[in-house]
Amino acid sequence: MRETFLPFAPPMIGEEEIAEVVDTLRSGWLTTGPKTRQFAEEFSAYTQAPAALTVNSCTAALHLSLVALGVTTGDEVITTPLTFAASVNVIEHVGARPVLVDVEPDTLNIDPKKVEQAITPATKAIIAVHYAGHPVELDAIRDIADRHKLHLIEDAAHAIGASYKGQPIGSGSNPTCFSFYATKNLTTGEGGMLTGDEELVDKARTLSLHGMSREAWSRYSAGGKWAYDIVAPGFKNNMTDMQAALGLQQLRRFESMQARRREIIGQYQAAFGNDAAFQTPVHRDHVTHAWHLYVLRLNESELTINRNQFIEEINARNIGTSVHFIPIHIHSFYAKKYNWKPEDLPVALSNYNRMLSLPLSPRMTNNDVADVINAVQDVNAKARRKRMAG
Ligand SMILES: *Cc1c(COP(=O)(O)O)cnc(C)c1O
Repeated sequence: MRETFLPFAPPMIGEEEIAEVVDTLRSGWLTTGPKTRQFAEEFSAYTQAPAALTVNSCTAALHLSLVALGVTTGDEVITTPLTFAASVNVIEHVGARPVLVDVEPDTLNIDPKKVEQAITPATKAIIAVHYAGHPVELDAIRDIADRHKLHLIEDAAHAIGASYKGQPIGSGSNPTCFSFYATKNLTTGEGGMLTGDEELVDKARTLSLHGMSREAWSRYSAGGKWAYDIVAPGFKNNMTDMQAALGLQQLRRFESMQARRREIIGQYQAAFGNDAAFQTPVHRDHVTHAWHLYVLRLNESELTINRNQFIEEINARNIGTSVHFIPIHIHSFYAKKYNWKPEDLPVALSNYNRMLSLPLSPRMTNNDVADVINAVQDVNAKARRKRMAG
């Protein structure tokens, strides 16, 4: 067994990141400035985005998207139950009503067929989450959004580097929201990016900094550098240059970090792919998977212990794990407010009950990966249901 605890998703920070942050500290410019501008430019080049705005979180990018699109009280927004609370909390923040539809059993992404059935005259938008880094069926979702005149917002917190039919996630004109939280594939500690068409990104830019506009002021004033106008009661969502400094260097090493993730995934898939006790993640042919998470599902009929016990056994072997996600509709706030029952979304619920996320980080060594595989196989062997012969 491992001597030390293997964390679930430690960040990969090198000397380059440290030097770039120190450079920022010495420059005298700490908050939004030249490095955030450069980070947005390089990120939009990488994702082929029409325009990009740095913000202080993916949550802020999602919220700004809803506000910029005018989603408000009385509107409905369709999304998935298998996501982090942020994707749904922002719907509450604008006074709209979240409508959850169940997921596909293989990818665990929102099911396009069920989206169509959930549309009402009040529906204004769909928030599609690229779960674990596997893109949703964008063609089908875009088609539904177009036919029903709905806005599409992509929660791409897991999907930096992913693509759908050759198109990078983030390259579309609709708002797409990325996270640079500490555990994500590219990190700035805390941070996020909003990509989309220029008009929307400009609107979000103003909203992200108090609703302050220098352009509006300059329309009716010669205006010194001090002059600004408040055109909307905006928010405080800007990214600092210290965060962007980290992001710039993370972007430089991003392809190599993704390559290392894919190597680790290859080892996991080879170890668990042919074992009847497990269901391993799928990867559809027409997408590039960003592999933010490796979600293993237990076939409980093969095992004498449940998912929670399985996790305890893995943790006891010094391996960190997580669960993505506790479905939104079973959290107390949402269950009470909307009177949602766990069984309302059976695919999300049953898969939640048997899933665990294994450690995944480009920082992991081959020994770390072997430790995870050994721990999982050891628990599996001890908990395997014995079958009677003949
Ligand atoms: C991490 C995450 C978010 C929130 O990202 P922050 O940058 O922490 O605000 C949103 N959606 C999903 C699916 C996430 O995993």
